[in-house]
Amino acid sequence: MNVFNAERLKRMEQAMLTCTMCGFCKSVCPSYKEAGWDTSAARGRVILAYGLVQGDLEPDADVIDSLYTCTTCMDCYRRCPSKVDVVGIVEDARKDIVASGRMLPKHAEVVSKVRSDGNPYGERTSVPETLGIEPRNAPLAYFAGCTATYRSKSISQATLSILRKLNEDFTVLDEKCCGSVMGRIGCPDDELVPMMVRNVEHIASLGVETLILSCAGCYRMFKEDYPLHVDVPFRVLHVSEWLAERDLPLQACKKRITYHDPCHLGRHAGVYDAPRQVIMKIPDATLVEMSNNREQSRCCGGGGGVRSAFPDAAKNMASARLQETDADILVTSCPFCVTNLKSANDDEIPIMDLTELVDRLL
Ligand code: SF4
Ligand code: SF4
Repeated sequence: MNVFNAERLKRMEQAMLTCTMCGFCKSVCPSYKEAGWDTSAARGRVILAYGLVQGDLEPDADVIDSLYTCTTCMDCYRRCPSKVDVVGIVEDARKDIVASGRMLPKHAEVVSKVRSDGNPYGERTSVPETLGIEPRNAPLAYFAGCTATYRSKSISQATLSILRKLNEDFTVLDEKCCGSVMGRIGCPDDELVPMMVRNVEHIASLGVETLILSCAGCYRMFKEDYPLHVDVPFRVLHVSEWLAERDLPLQACKKRITYHDPCHLGRHAGVYDAPRQVIMKIPDATLVEMSNNREQSRCCGGGGGVRSAFPDAAKNMASARLQETDADILVTSCPFCVTNLKSANDDEIPIMDLTELVDRLL
């Protein structure tokens, strides 16, 4: 273990000093609601980060846990009157923690699997082999992402089925992890950028004009993070945006359907309308909103590396989120949200990805 150096965190010092300690963020922070300690709220994390920068605090186990139970949901930023970039502060703190050799053991396992196998699940079979299709030149490409490929396979299969039913000229990809997991954990850009370059070069080599993605985390990477480091020479759409642009001859479904906004698709990337537009294309269906929705949507609890390192906390946050609806079906647009919400689904409301619902009705 190295000496802790708050090199990256120092860049956020001004943001920390902007915090007035008003505590408004406590009313929305899902990890604070789950844990009940101020150090698990946005405000508490700002104080801890400032202590690390000043050298008044050591990055001991409690400090590290507080910085890693943040789901990076960004709801604190929405609520904050001073617009303190708490996610930026947390993510820079994580980079310094990782650089000092203090990565959480569960995260170290995940990172090791991404490094050796190209995905966080340690799967040795490539994405094309797993999906059962070979990549080829095509104007449209589907980036399934690690979770929809290896764990929530019904989502990648539903997406492929939709593409076939719509007679699209598409390809799958010999994709490797987009880097989202490692980025959220705090791995350095030096390691992430080659992963970005490798994926973009592969996609571009197939003549792809439009890339569609299942996962909100992958989408945020390609849409927001990749262009900071690499030229992305194709259009990037979440599958919900792509579906919203299409005529979909859907069967009727006389159900009350609600939509959970994934934080990395909604607050981080501003995609709120497209998935709702797709649901509203379903004849006889009624879109009913959760108590907190769109910009004010509450986190499912699974993001930011929380589900892998703190599964009980992630499940409790999912349970709180599920209490916000009495709809017949809960739809979301991220395999990771589907998985985490299902983990807490005591009331047994059907929970599915938007692509699974569309495929059933197409
Ligand atoms: S809402 Fe913003 S200013 Fe207020 S305590 Fe939270 S982070 Fe600080
Ligand atoms: S990003 Fe979400 S979990 Fe993290 S401090 Fe802000 S509100 Fe809390």
